[in-house]
Amino acid sequence: MKIGVLALQGAVAEHIRALSTLNTEAIPIRLPSELNGLDALVIPGGESTTIAKLLSDYRLMQPIRKLASRGFPIFGTCAGMILLARKVADLDLKPIGAMGIEVTRNAFGRQVASFEADLNIPALGDGTFHGIFIRAPVIQKANPGVEVLCQLNDNVVAARQGRILACAFHPELTDDLRLHRYFLDLITGDYSV
Ligand code: GLN
Repeated sequence: MKIGVLALQGAVAEHIRALSTLNTEAIPIRLPSELNGLDALVIPGGESTTIAKLLSDYRLMQPIRKLASRGFPIFGTCAGMILLARKVADLDLKPIGAMGIEVTRNAFGRQVASFEADLNIPALGDGTFHGIFIRAPVIQKANPGVEVLCQLNDNVVAARQGRILACAFHPELTDDLRLHRYFLDLITGDYSV
């Protein structure tokens, strides 16, 4: 299996390290041609406005949209989740729009811009998942067909639609690799719905 990690900006190396630890080949992606032959793509956290602009500048936006429309597996974390959303309230540029979710950026307010919380994610089995939130978004609305995987208080912070996985926090900044493993299982398993 070969996974691409979008490497225009953000926490690229951390995702590559997490996937490598799971014995999975992970390579940085900057050019449209590098999408060829991949089994899945990770879109890391960073700054969604910057990544959206670079996606257009590097001519990656359309090819990624096309892949997503064919059921290609994509895992977006934080800014990556924002980019996967069909609708983002305060993003000037158009997101990739592969997932039927509406997202609000910086949803936890300026005072609590960054925080950590132990999350219940039943799909990962027993034991909480340590969520690192950095100027994190939340999912305001999830369309039918989107499975909510995790809520923090009343905020949806992780969800899945087919083989597209999104979370508002940064699993690549912890040593808990269960969410990355869950994504690898999505790629190979029967998760088309
Ligand atoms: N607040 C950032 C944005 O709107 C996301 C932050 C992150 O990815 N850690 O793009």
